[in-house]
Amino acid sequence: MKIGQLRRRLSKIYSRIPSLECREGCGECCGIHSWSFAEWLVITHWLGKHGRKELKAKSLLDPCPYLDESKKCTIYEVRPVICRLYGVVESLRCPYRQAEKYLKDEEAMAILKELDNLSVKIHHNLLGQKRKAPSRLSSLVKVRLDSFRL
Ligand code: SF4
Repeated sequence: MKIGQLRRRLSKIYSRIPSLECREGCGECCGIHSWSFAEWLVITHWLGKHGRKELKAKSLLDPCPYLDESKKCTIYEVRPVICRLYGVVESLRCPYRQAEKYLKDEEAMAILKELDNLSVKIHHNLLGQKRKAPSRLSSLVKVRLDSFRL
């Protein structure tokens, strides 16, 4: 699958996520960042196209390295699903802004699973069956949803 096709697939999945206008200069939810393999491909391609490289936080507890000094996301256009879901899932509401509507946990998990399945398929096509499959975002996020439940 070409990167353009992959971006279109991701956009279609993201289009099921309600929108939420973030508070300017907030960045409070930009802590742990993680993405699926499919999103990682798109993000690293996008960074390369903009003359930038992938950054990694030293620890998962550090703020996301793509948050700039004015607390603005510098990869907003290609930000991963976890950033799109925060604030718009019933159990993961933003304390400052109202979303246009809220997804049920099951709907959010269905989106994550779809991304996981797409990632496993692409990983398999690119690297073959011998390489360890990418970790499943849905299991990681389930732990997050459970621990942040309001
Ligand atoms: S990718 Fe952007 S929105 Fe997501 S955690 Fe990092 S700075 Fe925040």
